[in-house]
Amino acid sequence: MSNEKNFSRRRFLQFTGLTLVGAAHAAPAVATEQAASSVGATPPAFARLLRTASLPQPKGARVVIVGGGWSGLTLAKYLKRHNPAFDVLLIDRHPSFVSFPLSNSWLADQINLDFLSHSFFDAADNHDYHFLQATVLGFDRESRKVYTDVGHIAYEYLVLAPGIDYDYARIGVEDAEQQELLFQHYPGGFVSASELLTIKHKIQTFKGGTFVLNVPNGDYRCTAAPYERACMMAAVFKKRRVHAKILLLDMNTGIKIKKDGFHRAFDELYKDYIEYLPSSEISGIDLDAKAVTTEFDEYPFDDAIIYPPIRASRLIDEAGIANPKSPQRAANTDPFRYHVVGDEHVYVTGDSRGQPFSKGGHTAHSEGKYVAEVIAGHALGKDIAWRSPQTMCFSSVEIDPLQAMSIITYYKFNEQTNVFDFDRTHMIEDWDLQGGQASLAWAEGMFRDLFYR
Ligand SMILES: Cc1cc2nc3c(=O)[nH]c(=O)nc-3n(C[C@H](O)[C@H](O)[C@H](O)COP(=O)(O)OP(=O)(O)OC[C@H]3O[C@@H](n4cnc5c(N)ncnc54)[C@H](O)[C@@H]3O)c2cc1C
Repeated sequence: MSNEKNFSRRRFLQFTGLTLVGAAHAAPAVATEQAASSVGATPPAFARLLRTASLPQPKGARVVIVGGGWSGLTLAKYLKRHNPAFDVLLIDRHPSFVSFPLSNSWLADQINLDFLSHSFFDAADNHDYHFLQATVLGFDRESRKVYTDVGHIAYEYLVLAPGIDYDYARIGVEDAEQQELLFQHYPGGFVSASELLTIKHKIQTFKGGTFVLNVPNGDYRCTAAPYERACMMAAVFKKRRVHAKILLLDMNTGIKIKKDGFHRAFDELYKDYIEYLPSSEISGIDLDAKAVTTEFDEYPFDDAIIYPPIRASRLIDEAGIANPKSPQRAANTDPFRYHVVGDEHVYVTGDSRGQPFSKGGHTAHSEGKYVAEVIAGHALGKDIAWRSPQTMCFSSVEIDPLQAMSIITYYKFNEQTNVFDFDRTHMIEDWDLQGGQASLAWAEGMFRDLFYR
């Protein structure tokens, strides 16, 4: 069906449309034939899609990993460790890695960007796999091929770890142009490093007035991060003596995690800076008037960071492997073994996963080690017993020096309700210097594991 000869114009247009999604940003989807035509479906581009990507001949069964985030990087390293015969290829559309964890501390000048930035080439070199900078446009499970903007690649196993996309329609912004404008001017800072740079510039240059932040509803990325960001921003405004009010519009009924710790930080450290408003479901944003609308109120703002509810990367849905029952269009996978239902050669991990584990880098890392064993085991005909991922998350609330609180938790499957529950949770809500130091030591250890020997 899907060999080169049968690669139809319709599929080409589909793929070209996907290129637009990947290349622009991970926000609104514009994957339509019309979009593809508007940029010109030229023969050279067609040819590029049809050729085999230039890569060294694989020396063993090739495992292709889509996405060099916390999940994909872990898989790449540990697949090679558990089965050195694998030829592992990690693909990311970006040339280098920038960490989201600890980025809120960087926003408040507690660490520099070098601490968060690492090279994919170092990771690949040190852990004996290949890295390819390319955008994945789609894949064909029948012929086991991944299509990228630099050609296609055959795989024996495919791991999809492309992370998340924003879902602006869930805050009432449905028009693609409005979504684009909202993303550009008021980025949420939860999908790409460029958003973080824009946000830092906003914080450093804000002259005063009302700054709107929000906490999305649903199962969003890093439960504590929006509250942590409010604290870090307030700390900067306090230090700069800016007359700023951060309106923190929480689309949930209350603080979702480390509740006592964050309430105490808002009250004791940032009373004059943070106004916390729970149950504030955003239903629209007027970009011209600079106002956010909720069911009961309208909030004018001078500047804003809008973190819309999220969904699994559109790559999952567009490949036809999303679970139709999942509100976030997460992948339809075996909850214990992570493969797509009915296909033990395609796996989905990290924040695109279907299981309701906390969307965190540490979760993705511990889960990635397990899934690497599962895939290596599958190739060797060996069964690996399920083990829970571990979630560990630090939240900084005070600066100069950094002070943080933390949580560690595991998960267990509840046979009665058929869902995963928290298991063995250990939470420290009294922030202190040790917490701040521990957050830095944790991140340094993770970067060392993923990038260096
Ligand atoms: C501000 C903030 C603070 C956070 N703090 C913490 C914390 O303290 N602790 C913690 O554990 N977690 C934290 N997190 C969450 C953590 O960053 C995510 O859970 C983690 O990054 C998920 O890993 P992932 O590999 O699934 O996705 P990502 O890290 O997003 O990686 C996905 C990768 O896939 C690539 N990609 C996507 N589509 C394509 C395509 N079509 N072709 C090629 N490449 C593609 C992207 O470029 C990206 O590099 C925080 C997140 C944010 C935003």
